[in-house]
Amino acid sequence: MGTLSLTSEVHVFPCPNCRETINTSMQQCPFCHTPISTADAATAAAETSRISQACSDASYLKIMLGVLIPFGLASFVPFLSFIGLLGFVFIKYAIAVMTIRWWIKYANLKTSDPDFSKARGTAILVSAISALVLIIFRVHLYGLHI
Ligand SMILES: [Zn+2]
Repeated sequence: MGTLSLTSEVHVFPCPNCRETINTSMQQCPFCHTPISTADAATAAAETSRISQACSDASYLKIMLGVLIPFGLASFVPFLSFIGLLGFVFIKYAIAVMTIRWWIKYANLKTSDPDFSKARGTAILVSAISALVLIIFRVHLYGLHI
């Protein structure tokens, strides 16, 4: 993960007044002519990139959850069962950790962005399913009940 550079690159963000998409190189909004300060623009652009990061992280959570299914099924297949179990255990704990990380990183984001509320919905769903999987689908591996 790189750090965000706000000075050398142009970033897009919604105008604080009219919500039209503008960028950090503009001194005023071309749609509603609200003056945009450099600091405001930098803050807004940083928030916008955090929102898009939150969305892509949330869709990654969903993909990981989907990957659990083939590993879970593989655990019933002869010759694949050990790999299936190992993968299943690894992924279910990885999802739990990643979901917690998502909430730590993005729970404090105050935004009315519809994409972000969708991402938060995904994170809530994945959290709930992940908790159920951890509680219900226990596995015996190396003498451990995990
Ligand atoms: Zn505007």
